Amino acid sequence: MIPAAKPIIGDDEREAVDRVLRSGMLAQGPEVAAFEEEFSRFVGGRHCVAMNSGTSALHLGFIAAGIKPGDEVIVPSFSFAATANSVVLAGGTPVFGDIDPKTFNLDPAHAESLITSRTKAIMPVHLYGHIADMEKFEAIGKKHGVQIIEDAAQGHLASMNGRNSGEFGTVASFSFYPTKNMTAGEGGMVVTADAEIARMLRLLRNQGQEIRYKNEVVGFNTRMTDIHAAIGRVQLKKLEGWTKQRQDNAAYLNAHIQGVETPYLQPGTTHSYHQYTVRVSGNDAARRDAFMAKLADLGVGSGVYYPTPIHRLPSFGLTLDLPETEKMINECVSLPVHPSLTQAELETIVSAVNQAAASL
Ligand SMILES: *Cc1c(COP(=O)(O)O)cnc(C)c1O
Repeated sequence: MIPAAKPIIGDDEREAVDRVLRSGMLAQGPEVAAFEEEFSRFVGGRHCVAMNSGTSALHLGFIAAGIKPGDEVIVPSFSFAATANSVVLAGGTPVFGDIDPKTFNLDPAHAESLITSRTKAIMPVHLYGHIADMEKFEAIGKKHGVQIIEDAAQGHLASMNGRNSGEFGTVASFSFYPTKNMTAGEGGMVVTADAEIARMLRLLRNQGQEIRYKNEVVGFNTRMTDIHAAIGRVQLKKLEGWTKQRQDNAAYLNAHIQGVETPYLQPGTTHSYHQYTVRVSGNDAARRDAFMAKLADLGVGSGVYYPTPIHRLPSFGLTLDLPETEKMINECVSLPVHPSLTQAELETIVSAVNQAAASL
């Protein structure tokens, strides 16, 4: 079976971990500082603050950006639960917007229609590695005086008109969970152009202290360890090559897949293909599931990201009218696109997809 996702760990990652273990300094230290410095080269030199997860990065990012109880943050419902959980954890209220059916990202016009006097921020997600329409969001943010924040957990190196994800929002949060385009085991990174916000993030992740036992604010322990940072640094060196490989794999799939809708690419953007997601038409989850079962029979793994919109999860339990989101959950299927696929595996995927689509 060709797996839907596959983290790549090499000898250099193992050696980096061993180096840290031998040093005896395991907690946040020089490896974390170096990782932050190196990551900042990919986000226009912005300040980078490492965290123990992407969820912590989002959560502390909201607090540092000034989100307070009662504030509303507009987010897409078609995303991973952490997108909305982090708003709630910061004391805010997520307001769920619908998606653009082409890019699968938060629809700027719908998001704008949800702005109220309580709206403090809009947080698009670069879903599957397709950057959200950040220039439109920047204009909306300016017009209404609301912050734009990026959930870049899936958006490493996705770009729009020459600017990478992370270079748009007041804060942007990346994840290094094992299935993301690069990993640190677990981990996250908050990116900001604002030195004050960066300082607040450094305080918040470390019990509110910059100088030991001189705690300035009430903080958390969401530090990244040097063990994780060492893995992240090695992976970061490979990220551009892996992204190119994902793009090449996607180009091959685009050129040869028939019978299902292949991913759209908005002009002026680059896609990092965290997921390669097709749509099985018909707005019918049973039809999509039959397609996936056939793929599995033919040796190809696939996944549904996400089967339930966040607003309808038991943790939120809301009834809302988000028609494009409701359609997408019945039609989306993510196929393998990871950089370790061989040409033979790509051919197997194409032939399985085309057979499965023809059998519907
Ligand atoms: C992975 C992910 C997160 C959370 O990141 P973790 O590192 O798993 O905490 C948040 N948002 C989105 C869209 C994600 O895909």
